[in-house]
Amino acid sequence: MIPYGHQTIDEKDIQAVVDVLRSDYLTTGPAVEIFEKKVAEYVGAKYAVAVNSGTAALHIACLAAGMKEGDEVITTPITFAASANCVLYCNGTPVFADIDSRTYNILPEEIEKKITPRTKAIVPVHFTGQPCDMDAISAIAKKHSLIVIEDGAHALGASYRGKKIGSISDMTIFSFHPVKPITTGEGGMVVTNSENLYRRLKLFRSHGITREENMMESSGEIMTGSENGIGAEDGIKPGNGIRTESGGWYYQQIELGFNYRMTDIQAALGSSQMDKLDTFLNRRREIARRYNEAFAGNPNIGIPQQMKSAVSGWHLYVIRVPADRRKEIFRKLQSAGIGVNVHYIPVYRHPYYQKHEYGKVCCPNAEELYGQMISLPIYPGLTDGQQKQVMEAVLKICDF
Ligand SMILES: *Cc1c(COP(=O)(O)O)cnc(C)c1O
Repeated sequence: MIPYGHQTIDEKDIQAVVDVLRSDYLTTGPAVEIFEKKVAEYVGAKYAVAVNSGTAALHIACLAAGMKEGDEVITTPITFAASANCVLYCNGTPVFADIDSRTYNILPEEIEKKITPRTKAIVPVHFTGQPCDMDAISAIAKKHSLIVIEDGAHALGASYRGKKIGSISDMTIFSFHPVKPITTGEGGMVVTNSENLYRRLKLFRSHGITREENMMESSGEIMTGSENGIGAEDGIKPGNGIRTESGGWYYQQIELGFNYRMTDIQAALGSSQMDKLDTFLNRRREIARRYNEAFAGNPNIGIPQQMKSAVSGWHLYVIRVPADRRKEIFRKLQSAGIGVNVHYIPVYRHPYYQKHEYGKVCCPNAEELYGQMISLPIYPGLTDGQQKQVMEAVLKICDF
């Protein structure tokens, strides 16, 4: 079976992981910092916080944005559930806005229609790696004072009007799951240009704990040694009823965070993968170009349209076929040894969402696309011969 996506690992990647296993640090240490710096520099962001999944990245991005109960967040239904679930984790409400039938990305006009006084943020998803219309989305966010968290899980290395995804909005997340542009096994990252958001992201990554004195809470009345059992000579600071002290051991938990830390083992793999990202992307673009050429003009195969303002990372290659034949075409391609897939079932269709007040939600463009779409294999290791096999099968099966 030729899968729809697959990681590309070489000897250098393996050696990088082995080197960490022989070192002093296994979890978050120097390799994580190096990886964060590498991704931040590549995408043109000031700060990066590595975590143990793209889902964790979305969660801490929502927390850093101050998301809370009652807040509404507008996102697309054509995405992996995590793009919306992160809002539910914060007791907020995901609101689905319909997509552009040409690019399959969230439509700015539809975002505007869904804005209410409770809207807190927009989570645009760069579906298949093609950047969303970020000029329009940024303008809407500015007009309504909304936070933008870009879900760039498909789009590491993609660019919009000459700017890399990760350099544009308040925060952008990436995923390093094996099928994504680069991998760390499991892993994710949030990039930002805001020092304040960066500090909060780091806090939520690790239990809400800080060792930085300027982030610690203290003010108001002076606590005495007898109150907390520690002598005044130990450096008791004035506290607002909060027991504070100083000393090399001291830290504070000031928020309710999580353990979302990435290991150095994963980060070393990530840094090694970053060295190959541009090569990976070039190969993906080459594969997409060949699919486009093979299918162009075929009345039964719709190929993905690309905006002039964007350069896609080609995480997925999605074709559209007649809705009444999709099931049959999908089955025939599977029988021919091609690991096709459907990305994605509109999020609000999942039983969990249906049971939680999303039963009546319907985005017509997303529904139409969902009925017709099939993802074909695309990944750097796909050989010319394998791609030829896929193209021949698709053309034969869609010849009716
Ligand atoms: C993969 C993916 C995620 C989640 O990433 P994980 O690393 O698997 O947690 C989020 N959003 C989108 C669009 C994805 O494709």
